[in-house]
Amino acid sequence: MQAADILKSYSDITVIDHPFVQHKLTSLRDKNTSTREFRMLVEELGTLIGYEATRDLETVDIEIETPLEKAMCPVLKGKKLCIVTIMRAGNGLAEGVLKLSPSARVGHIGMYRDPETKQPVDYYLKMPHSIEERTIIVVDPMLATGNSAAAAIEKMKKMGAKDIRFICLFAAPEGIVAFKEEHYDVPMYIGAIDRELDEHAYIRPGVGDAGDRIYGTR
Ligand code: URA
Repeated sequence: MQAADILKSYSDITVIDHPFVQHKLTSLRDKNTSTREFRMLVEELGTLIGYEATRDLETVDIEIETPLEKAMCPVLKGKKLCIVTIMRAGNGLAEGVLKLSPSARVGHIGMYRDPETKQPVDYYLKMPHSIEERTIIVVDPMLATGNSAAAAIEKMKKMGAKDIRFICLFAAPEGIVAFKEEHYDVPMYIGAIDRELDEHAYIRPGVGDAGDRIYGTR
């Protein structure tokens, strides 16, 4: 399926087509981009995409006093944010989303992809309390097969989470289909929908291994 067909077939998918986002995504793709720059860009994109993913957060008016007069002005309503990073590549993106709401709680899910089966294997889970009362933003830069993100969201739902959103930088069409087949109710905020997955489940054209590029491993 091509990006246009995906957007017609599934609801609640937002591709962030803002020129700043697209420019930064292109820098990520460039193989000559340094580790330092790559990490900074992932963080900046976390803030920019996180901004769109939280556009509908509710506000409530409170009374404050400006130096000139009293005024009723909006603040974020009670519901607390929790950013859930799918380690390890999600951590860079989570830092960017945290810039929007530094007091947000952070949950960690450790998963790696079995190279043979391409299925996610979990090795770590740590969540803040009361996740059923929070807006949960699950972050992973690369939505490849969609298996890890779908499994992470399944875990969140089993723990009682009701308001869940997903952010990624690059998605393969196959990954979006797999994700939406399991979680049609979870809005997705995506930097770019790429062409396809290759035989090693890498996104093409993509950026290569996002974790390696963020942390300079390999
Ligand atoms: N994970 C990555 O880091 N890159 C891909 O292309 C796919 C999965």
